[in-house]
Amino acid sequence: MNRISAALLGISALALAACDGVEWHIFQGDDEGAAGPEKVASQKTADVEDETEEVPASPARKPALGEAEGTFALTGARLLTMAGDPIARGTILIEDGRISAVGADLDIPRGMPVIDAGGLTIIPGLVDMHVHHFGEAEGPLYIANGVTTVRNLWGTVQTVSLDRGAADGDYPGPRVYTPGPLTDGPEPVWGDQSLVVTSPEMMRGAVRAQKAAGFTAVKLYETMTPEIYRAGVAEAKAQGMKIYTHTPRAMTVEEVIALEVDSLEHLEDVHNALLPDGYEGGDGRRDYLQRWAAADEDKMRDLARKFAEKGVANSATLEVSINRYRDMMDTERFFESEQGAYVAKGIRDWWQGSADRSRPWLTPELVNAARDKQLRFVKILHDEGAPVLIGTDTPNPFIVQGFSLHDEMASFRDAGFTEEEILDIATRKAAAFLDASEEFGQIREGLRADLVIVEGDPLADLSVLRKPAGVIAGGRLYDRAALDDMLAEARAAAENSYVETVDEETPTEE
Ligand SMILES: [Zn+2]
Repeated sequence: MNRISAALLGISALALAACDGVEWHIFQGDDEGAAGPEKVASQKTADVEDETEEVPASPARKPALGEAEGTFALTGARLLTMAGDPIARGTILIEDGRISAVGADLDIPRGMPVIDAGGLTIIPGLVDMHVHHFGEAEGPLYIANGVTTVRNLWGTVQTVSLDRGAADGDYPGPRVYTPGPLTDGPEPVWGDQSLVVTSPEMMRGAVRAQKAAGFTAVKLYETMTPEIYRAGVAEAKAQGMKIYTHTPRAMTVEEVIALEVDSLEHLEDVHNALLPDGYEGGDGRRDYLQRWAAADEDKMRDLARKFAEKGVANSATLEVSINRYRDMMDTERFFESEQGAYVAKGIRDWWQGSADRSRPWLTPELVNAARDKQLRFVKILHDEGAPVLIGTDTPNPFIVQGFSLHDEMASFRDAGFTEEEILDIATRKAAAFLDASEEFGQIREGLRADLVIVEGDPLADLSVLRKPAGVIAGGRLYDRAALDDMLAEARAAAENSYVETVDEETPTEE
């Protein structure tokens, strides 16, 4: 297993070096983050203390859920169905991996195995709406964190295979929704790895080819001309495909919004639209953070209304857009945290190196000022009715699969979203965005039985989701012991692998 994992992690390292630059070149530089203590403090919100005590049974509960597969019943749990009011003590019947019934008083078919989930709370499986998923070895990290679905932002045949494998129960991993390959213009940021188009005609062909290959969305990138970009948007719409996008360098974010794309990633170019009149520009590598720190709050509402009016969702990816800078300013804290143990040694060296290069120009004041503005903008988007998505851009540096989704959700809490709003965005609304409301996202008859079972009350404290008592994915129930086994194996793989390929390849100096 270790040998295989190392190989897979090696693939990941190369590929993630690529995805990493997805943002790095935007930020014109290395990257890196800061200020850890706030992150911890932010999870301790005031309402935690009030409500955790009311949650029945968690302390007394000991028996493990046990494992189950295919057809079984879960009884006695509080159900946050995301399809209506919570059910205080409900039963879920699962047949062949799908929910066949949900309710307070259900007859359990004779002979159906029963799992007692009394005292626990069950929510739909969580969704990370911006990942780069490369291999089976990553699957358990998502599952152990309750992430049962991901939106992958650069599709390949490998990605599609990963989805099939997870669906068929070949390995524990999330279901994967993906556009085709990253599609870029004449000077592709990622070189030959991208699908390169150099004319509107080629662009239209590239979209149709992706449609024919079975992809349901396209990912449009940065170096295409406005003419090529518009051709891509028009053809994708004609083919009934979704459009996930960065802002091309030759266009403004307002121009992209006007085309009614489906999602903008990383708030890309938003900071330039929010600059105060007469802003003179920042300096070098600080420029990106300085622009955010300078953002004019009066302009936020107008821009948010444009997103709302055109129905363009923002996948803010606060983990990559800002939180990693905090981690970069205190790498010791990061690597000693629980998730640090899942970073392969070679990747760890690479992340450390990038942090070391960035630390000289990072200050907590700058990072926090930029972060405050990003959080403010995301909240204003939501208040104005513009859709927001919760995604992380794992595995960029300091963003570990699965674990990072909880950090992203904590940032949304910092931004002023309620726990209920956050859960809704990370489950029901994610499925709706993907046109998959009849597949997952709620606890409802007919949907996949992708479920997270926790002690405590996520509506009072989202951090209870970090250590599920059980997760159901691919038709199988993994209880805490099974999840711990998966994690132990992933830690061993990280410990025993060494990947030397990435450091110099990271295109941070784009
Ligand atoms: Zn990405």
